[in-house]
Amino acid sequence: MASAAAIDWASAEGLDLSHFWMPFTNNRFFKANPRLFVSAKDMHFTTADGRQVLDATSGLWCVNAGHGREAITEAIREAAGVLDFGPTFQLGHPLPFRLASELAAMMPAGLDRVFFTNSGSESADTALKMALAYHHAKGDSTRFRLIGRQRGYHGTNFGGMSVGGIGGNRRRYVSQVWGVDHLAHTHGDAVRFQRGLQPGNGGLAEELEELVALHGPETIAAVIVEPVAGSTGVLVPPQGYLQALRDITRKHGILLIFDEVITGFGRVGDAATAAEVFGVTPDIVTLAKGLTNATVPMGAVVASREVHDTIVNGSPAGIEFFHGYTYSGHPLASAAGLAALALYRQEGLFARTTALAPVWEEAMHGLRDCPNVIDIRNVGLVAGIELAPRDGAIGARAMEAFHRAFDAGLLIRVTGDIIALSPPLIVSEAQIGEIADKLRTVLHETA
Ligand code: PMP
Repeated sequence: MASAAAIDWASAEGLDLSHFWMPFTNNRFFKANPRLFVSAKDMHFTTADGRQVLDATSGLWCVNAGHGREAITEAIREAAGVLDFGPTFQLGHPLPFRLASELAAMMPAGLDRVFFTNSGSESADTALKMALAYHHAKGDSTRFRLIGRQRGYHGTNFGGMSVGGIGGNRRRYVSQVWGVDHLAHTHGDAVRFQRGLQPGNGGLAEELEELVALHGPETIAAVIVEPVAGSTGVLVPPQGYLQALRDITRKHGILLIFDEVITGFGRVGDAATAAEVFGVTPDIVTLAKGLTNATVPMGAVVASREVHDTIVNGSPAGIEFFHGYTYSGHPLASAAGLAALALYRQEGLFARTTALAPVWEEAMHGLRDCPNVIDIRNVGLVAGIELAPRDGAIGARAMEAFHRAFDAGLLIRVTGDIIALSPPLIVSEAQIGEIADKLRTVLHETA
């Protein structure tokens, strides 16, 4: 067996592709046409064949401060040399306490109790269980229903999958968490037209009242939404929508969970959360991705004092919240988180999103005349460019654009026929121009 010292980190020479079963990948296609990155720095990946690829997606919406940031990698190295692992069940070590304090200080007022996970999926399931535990601790154990949204994405574990609203993620796994219902998504003139609503009036949130009337408020534990749905193509909420959800949930004693795995850490504006950017405070926020600038897997669930205290003080003696992960608050992840948050602060990266947003908007909307573009949406440093499907083959056109872009040195993401863009917050104005120029060429070629 090769020792670690024998690995040439930056080489793909002699690689056997057969054993790694790749996630969310057409494995047969990939293994016939492998596209491999071997290193990354700032705004670029380097491919195995030595090309530079401009990262217009922050990896998977996660490398908010750009790649290879020394301050973070150095913190990880140092922490590993001091404490490689420390349990956090009935024992502790300082790093997750420090990180939780730093994180709490960045959250909307009132949200300051932090539970650590290892991913966005784990954060979603943790938040849902927290909501159930909260009502149970209050003696309200008939509140078991969870409400998600069509085109919502909350990861791939059973809870997140069940409240999520992507057919492909759900249908083949017949079993779902019981008692879940879904709001309609906030996008699509067809939906608005059917309901006689105008874009921008926030009316769709009122549908929650219909679900409450249908099921009875005493059966509903929580509503979970992404403030801006990311993975299904950047669906920006109508004005007033999130506030309306807040008002309705509060009125009925239902917890509101914002899944901010994508929208957190400056993605949509000058704040650590979209909650703050949109001025709506939920009861629970889920985070991951940018928390460590994606260097070490880590997620977090930030709960209100009320949710925390109800569970912790309202439970009989013993463990109050019967939930957790071996790696909750792992020293390396905590060190990476502390360094990433420091970097965001020192470099004022969230403010940079707001400063660059008009440049980004202009560049993205400048693509509206490109062939097959039917919609462009943006907020902060994120954008969705929707293409007309090609002859009923949903996703084929965008997938072609993805491959062409990659060959032209640009990393984009596609979901169905939507191109999703979310560059690291260190992106320069010139690089925004480069992203738009490359996309323009790609969209013309793809036509
Ligand atoms: N929630 C949201 C909103 C996400 O966008 C994602 C990942 N894209 C997840 C949860 C799941 O995160 P992970 O892949 O880290 O499990």
